[in-house]
Amino acid sequence: MSRVLDGVAIAAEIKAEVAAEVSQLAAQGIRPGLAAVLVGNVAASEIYVRSKVKTCADLGLYSEMITPPETVTTEEMLTLVADLNAREDIDGILIQLPLPGHVDTKRLLDAVSPEKDVDGFHPVNAGRLQAGRLSGKSSALVPCTPAGVIEILKRSGIAIAGQHAVVVGRSDIVGKPAAMLLLHQNATVTICHSKTQDLPSITRQADILVAAIGRAGFITPEMVKPGATVIDVGINRITDRAEFEKFFAGDEKRAESFSKRGSTLVGDVHPQAFAVAGAYTPVPGGVGPLTIAMLMANTVRAARMRRGL
Ligand code: NDP
Repeated sequence: MSRVLDGVAIAAEIKAEVAAEVSQLAAQGIRPGLAAVLVGNVAASEIYVRSKVKTCADLGLYSEMITPPETVTTEEMLTLVADLNAREDIDGILIQLPLPGHVDTKRLLDAVSPEKDVDGFHPVNAGRLQAGRLSGKSSALVPCTPAGVIEILKRSGIAIAGQHAVVVGRSDIVGKPAAMLLLHQNATVTICHSKTQDLPSITRQADILVAAIGRAGFITPEMVKPGATVIDVGINRITDRAEFEKFFAGDEKRAESFSKRGSTLVGDVHPQAFAVAGAYTPVPGGVGPLTIAMLMANTVRAARMRRGL
């Protein structure tokens, strides 16, 4: 029987730690603050941002949601970011992606002060991460999802040092920082991507397999080494009944929820591949909940670092 790594429980543990830290800071008159910028009316983005703002309130952080219209220009966004950079009550700035096509996303993300870059997207933070500056003053704010992957492994007691970790995906948001964090934890790391040849022969060598591809059920059972730990970062919404059957045939509970909602989530790992694994993160309820928990942790860290604490 494969072990399920419960992301909801681990995220709850981290959030409780953050809440305790927030009350310690409150005793010193400090209230960490997050500004979440949501451009336009993308329903999925709005759901994400609202749940981030709500979690701030639950844990005692200050938060603010700023909602420029779809027509906002790059220059207007740059002014907004400059204001947030200068504000004393704001420790973290989050710009929800994707932005409308006419906004220069790179320029904007580069304009966020590295000290307030709680998503860890600024090149200064990417550089600090690569250089292994992970604690102490002026250390990296690490992208939330990959930071969550490491927390799941560590808090589940899964050994990383000396293990072969294979990361499929090399995005700046997930794959690359996940690989770098695993390397700093002394794993032997292989990074795979769309040009990798004979991918299954590499994934089958993984003691820890991280899938961050963005393709539903891409990792099939024969790509997994028996007993491996499989971390499924993927979130893919499926609405097609035939596709649903391909992944979840025989899963009555899922079928019921699919009929009711007309959709379900599947990761980048085929559900049947989990049976081969020794341990795995489910979708939903695996890596997803960690992303918000780590955002909260990053905001508190940013508040401390900015004050030299
Ligand atoms: P990107 O699209 O930015 O990157 C996907 C990566 O997968 C690329 O490096 C790409 O390679 C690689 N890839 C694509 N096709 C193949 C293939 N056939 N074989 C091998 N590699 C392939 O996605 P993200 O990194 O942003 O996200 C990955 C997944 O994680 C998505 O499902 C996303 O929804 C999910 N996600 C989940 C989060 C969470 O909170 N749990 C947060 C962020 C993302 P190449 O570079 O060569 O194109």
